[in-house]
Amino acid sequence: MNLAIDAGGTNYRAEILDNDQSVQTLCVKSADIGLSNWIETILNEYHGIKTVYIAYAGQVKEGVIISAPNQNVDNHDIKNYFEDKFGVELFIENDLNCAVLAEAEHFNCENICALYVGTGLGLGVVSSSKLICGHNGVTTEIGHIPYKDAPFRCGCGKSNCLELFASGSGVMKFKEYNSIDSSKRLTELQESKNAVEKKLYDEFETALVHAVGTVITLFTPEILVLGGGIISADEELIQRITSRVKDFAMPITLQGVKIVQTQMQNAPLRGALLLKDCR
Ligand SMILES: [Zn+2]
Repeated sequence: MNLAIDAGGTNYRAEILDNDQSVQTLCVKSADIGLSNWIETILNEYHGIKTVYIAYAGQVKEGVIISAPNQNVDNHDIKNYFEDKFGVELFIENDLNCAVLAEAEHFNCENICALYVGTGLGLGVVSSSKLICGHNGVTTEIGHIPYKDAPFRCGCGKSNCLELFASGSGVMKFKEYNSIDSSKRLTELQESKNAVEKKLYDEFETALVHAVGTVITLFTPEILVLGGGIISADEELIQRITSRVKDFAMPITLQGVKIVQTQMQNAPLRGALLLKDCR
């Protein structure tokens, strides 16, 4: 049996697979338990798990979690720990790197970007069929490029990150700062008669189009896949982004690019299962 985990900033979702068939799904809030602790519980309950695959919402180098702006880390040296203690094989990679591997396979595309908007704003890039990893394994961190000053800090330590404007956690921070009801969804803010609420939505959308245009200009993908909870919650968002992106990307890079919504239920988790073969 194998264990595949999508370790996001809000939820940890797991699938236990037997001969590639899902036999059990599990989910916990990442605020309630450390990832390592959770995996340990699963391995103790489900005997016979041989391989663990993790799509991790943070930065990972050679099996070690080196940074995690959106969650607490209870064990950085996760690969060595589980391989030594449980005799399993463990693969862990940034969640968007996993997602783009799955999207590249799904669309059979050699030049593809996956930009996901959920708790954070994440990007994975496959260029000429190769996953871009960069020095130290930390790359394509679009969410943490300087954008505008915000009145609070990002999980990475800076206070001007794009993620503060174009992500679920960033919008939540702005809601708290502006005393806006935290349960209001982005679509409600967009339609709000309240100027502060409407402005918060507009700032979000503009920051997201800025991210999309920047990604297209830098990586000139054939396909840019948008995914994540914020994208799936608003069916018209992708159309608004597509209609505005010409003002945010170098014109020639827009030729032939398709901006599409992910068709996968959980691309990071599916992509994690590809890690054994791609390294
Ligand atoms: Zn940041």
